[in-house]
Amino acid sequence: MTILAINKRVFDGDEQSFYAFRSTFQCPSCGKEIVFCADDMSPIEDVDLASLPKGFEKKLNLRHRAGETFFENHKGLRSHAVQCSCNDCSARLMVVAGIGEVQPSRFNVVVEGIIVL
Ligand SMILES: [Zn+2]
Repeated sequence: MTILAINKRVFDGDEQSFYAFRSTFQCPSCGKEIVFCADDMSPIEDVDLASLPKGFEKKLNLRHRAGETFFENHKGLRSHAVQCSCNDCSARLMVVAGIGEVQPSRFNVVVEGIIVL
């Protein structure tokens, strides 16, 4: 499994545009553009973490506080994930992004990285 650390803010806006927000990234295997929607993402603790490579959180600079089940980045944005597959090369991918409200009614999405499953 490959883990690509990206750490790039792809959205900064209000709640309404957040739900309609889509972003793209390049398939790490073939370079084709893949679209994902922030609204499709689930909290990473709801994903089958056993399917992710060991140490992914370290590679993506995510923190896991003692006694908590969630992960977050250094700015306190909670980690979310969505599984996608590439239409071209069929690679199975997990997009990990920090999503949250940074100020009242102002949302950010930071793509932390892509995991090739
Ligand atoms: Zn591909």
